[in-house]
Amino acid sequence: MTETQDRLRNIPAVNEILEAQEVRGLIEQFGRQETIRALRVAIGHYRQELLRDKGGANAVHGEDALYRVIALLKRDLFSRLLYTLQPVINATGVVVHTNLGRSLLSSEAIAALASIGSSYTNLEIDLADGTRGKRGRRVEELLIDLTGAEDALIVNNNAAAVLLALDTFASGKEVIVSRGQLVEIGGSFRLPRIMAKGGAQLIEVGTTNRTFIEDYEEAIAENTALLMRVHPSNYRIAGFTHEVPLDQLVALGRQRDVPVLDDLGSGVLVSLPQEVNDDLAYEPMVQDSVRQGADIVTFSGDKLLGGPQCGLIVGKAEMIERMRRNNLMRAIRVSKLIYTSLQATLEAYVRGAAVEDLPTLRMLSQSQDALGQRAQAIANDLTGLVAARGQLNIGVKAVESRVGGGALPTVGLPSWALQVTTTPGCFFSVDDLSTALRCHEQPVVARVADDALLFDLRAVRPEEDRLLIDAIAAVSASLEDSKTKG
Ligand SMILES: *Cc1c(COP(=O)(O)O)cnc(C)c1O
Repeated sequence: MTETQDRLRNIPAVNEILEAQEVRGLIEQFGRQETIRALRVAIGHYRQELLRDKGGANAVHGEDALYRVIALLKRDLFSRLLYTLQPVINATGVVVHTNLGRSLLSSEAIAALASIGSSYTNLEIDLADGTRGKRGRRVEELLIDLTGAEDALIVNNNAAAVLLALDTFASGKEVIVSRGQLVEIGGSFRLPRIMAKGGAQLIEVGTTNRTFIEDYEEAIAENTALLMRVHPSNYRIAGFTHEVPLDQLVALGRQRDVPVLDDLGSGVLVSLPQEVNDDLAYEPMVQDSVRQGADIVTFSGDKLLGGPQCGLIVGKAEMIERMRRNNLMRAIRVSKLIYTSLQATLEAYVRGAAVEDLPTLRMLSQSQDALGQRAQAIANDLTGLVAARGQLNIGVKAVESRVGGGALPTVGLPSWALQVTTTPGCFFSVDDLSTALRCHEQPVVARVADDALLFDLRAVRPEEDRLLIDAIAAVSASLEDSKTKG
């Protein structure tokens, strides 16, 4: 016990530790206040280590105590970086990757963010007469032009759009949905729950695989507020199936005076480029829903539309106006940053340049050949950098990318990946490499399959190729160093 107390007394003082060369570097990187705060925590952890070990063989002291505290300090400061939003290279091959932030913005959208974010703006003022103006009206008008709808409204995300529609039209009433369309979207969007939150009672009709117009017809009652169609974006029911087409649902709704709500999930404004896979044509277009007469159509801004996170609502003027006047709107409205970046995104559609200018659509349209050439060039460069160490086998492999964002789940996009495996004598595994790449100062997220690390190039921006090569070379070198020293 006295030995432990001895060691506790020997922990260097905060001021002393702050003088160490290495800690001065940390202060420069993380700031003095942050470093001191983390240092106090690190000293606390070191004390616990000593007490737990009762001053025994594992405890370190003197000079070693200083190194141990600094090691704990660094671990704490750097792990905090991992929880800070930072640019990550997406080598998963999933283009609209929800966990990696969905769509990348176009350069026009980024420029708009920089300009509007750094200045005051006419968000809610009519510059012509100086009176209070309507938030986001210009963007709504663009959306009206693009979709052919009577009116449009923009909210925080598509989940909020659905919630607003239910709260406005169906609170205390019934909403009819096919059993085949009761979706769960990753991250807790479950249709039955959203219904409950919107105060609506869900009336399920049909069966999981087959629903007919008669099923809806029989379920319509005095208290029916909406017929709802949900695009089963992230799953497919195949085999013995039947779904009611939207135009039939609309015809029934007209006849019985019940409006139709169409949740498209992703929704697209142009037919997706089909050079890579013709099945991309099957993602439903917003314009088609409007033309077929859906009263309200909702979709996401950051899925296949390729813009910022928001929910877009288009439809009949009178119904959109009721949603706009709902008090809930104040809680789910979007900021000037969203209006301006969404506007820049929509203008690419107006110019007819969406596939070229919006990164999401551009990535989906890249040919397998072009990706193969990049994969081979990267493999050649990387081989040059790592060959001498003899730890890694570098090659290329034909793979299939995914659209992601819960859209077109069964569609594969032929692509090429850089393939990295470890040699038999290597000190670390493919999993070690994968983890270290995620934690690297330029994080890279790749896919492990069959004992190989695959870097699908479809969602890697060409300007990131160099960063990817450098990250793999640096990480494999430092993994070897740490394993051989340890
Ligand atoms: C993705 C999706 C949602 C949720 O959209 P968010 O923009 O993520 O809120 C709702 N419904 C469907 C059918 C979807 O695919």
